[in-house]
Amino acid sequence: MYIILNTITLPSHEIQMLEKEELTQKDIEHFTERYGKRFIRALRAVEEGKVFRYHFLPSDITTWIVKGKRREYLVIPEIYCTCRSFYQDVVMSREANMCYHLLAQRIAALRVQYHTIESTDTERRNLHVEWRRTD
Ligand SMILES: [Zn+2]
Repeated sequence: MYIILNTITLPSHEIQMLEKEELTQKDIEHFTERYGKRFIRALRAVEEGKVFRYHFLPSDITTWIVKGKRREYLVIPEIYCTCRSFYQDVVMSREANMCYHLLAQRIAALRVQYHTIESTDTERRNLHVEWRRTD
């Protein structure tokens, strides 16, 4: 059996904008028009250092986390986020194609503005209990 996952990819011209060292006012206007307040929240989260890339050994598994106001959200790049907005606005009502955490992860990865945390698989099992929550 195959499970087809919908990937939520940014178009290549937006990736190019985000990879530049400085975002211009025009770039920000473009993104705000397309993603609304989500873009501003995502950019702020990146600038405030809320995006974390955990690297676990010996499995070599990478897990992306975005710290929100209430808790930490597990983000599977271009696919999934454990926050309520992803479930409500992206999956159920299809009002948006991504939550601000998914957008923040993409921005952080492209601009190399994230914290890397090296850890162990034992610790990963503990952390995942909390991260898997979707409430
Ligand atoms: Zn989210």
